[in-house]
Amino acid sequence: MRFVNADGRSGLLVADQVFDLAEASGGAISADPTEAVFANWDAALRLSQDGALSGGRPVDNVQLGPPIPRPRAIFGIGLNFRKHAEESGMGVPDVPPVFTKFPTSICGPFDDIVLPAGHAETVDWEAELAFVVGSGGKKISREAAWDSIAGLTVAQDISERTLQMAGARQFSMGKSFDTFCPIGPAIVSLDEITDPSDLRITCKLNGKVVQDESTSDMVFDIPELVAFLSSVLPLRPGDLCLTGTPSGVGMGMNPKVYLRDGDVIDTEIAGIGGMRNRCVPEA
Ligand code: ZN
Repeated sequence: MRFVNADGRSGLLVADQVFDLAEASGGAISADPTEAVFANWDAALRLSQDGALSGGRPVDNVQLGPPIPRPRAIFGIGLNFRKHAEESGMGVPDVPPVFTKFPTSICGPFDDIVLPAGHAETVDWEAELAFVVGSGGKKISREAAWDSIAGLTVAQDISERTLQMAGARQFSMGKSFDTFCPIGPAIVSLDEITDPSDLRITCKLNGKVVQDESTSDMVFDIPELVAFLSSVLPLRPGDLCLTGTPSGVGMGMNPKVYLRDGDVIDTEIAGIGGMRNRCVPEA
């Protein structure tokens, strides 16, 4: 299943057609994408597998928003690709470094990224694979981890490096400006993904490839992250976890490169989907 937010409503993407999940289910599935992910994921999955859908609209005619617009929590994992840990000069971690992106930072897969006034000089990109929690729970074992996850999506962990590295290097504020967390275009259920431990992540800045690595290079894989996070706190349906970025961020370049007005970022994960976001100044 490819679950989308089409014109603000829960939708199912099949090839290039979008079907309204509330209509197709006779109201059993919430039209609100957040509510549908919280409460109706399994029902949506069953409906998508039944296949008897009608009344689709071409995806080009709808606006795709963030597939889960209001998650209760967004976890970010730092330094989870070896080459990125090296380029950051912070070393490969022995425990997953976790921060939060506050959920108000969410935006859609084709929305503009706003370079915040007063913080526009050192904004950087980080292409990432994100998992969306399904059933969730506490103290989930590595072995049970995949059963607790609803699906995977594409994300950008946009980061204002000056604020991120200020003070005690508490990352969360520098990563939580409005529009700093584009996600989408779809949450892809696990049955559609052959091997989540080997997915190619690419990021292009103005058409030039800047990041290109496989999730096989991750330091802590998704089951390890689920086990670690849930050893401390409960994972709840719809919680989002950005699993870390490959090498090739602007901060790691010589000279450093940061996002400027008009820049276009293409973020793609093979088999999951692609996003395109343009950088604009704060109005
Ligand atoms: Zn990141």
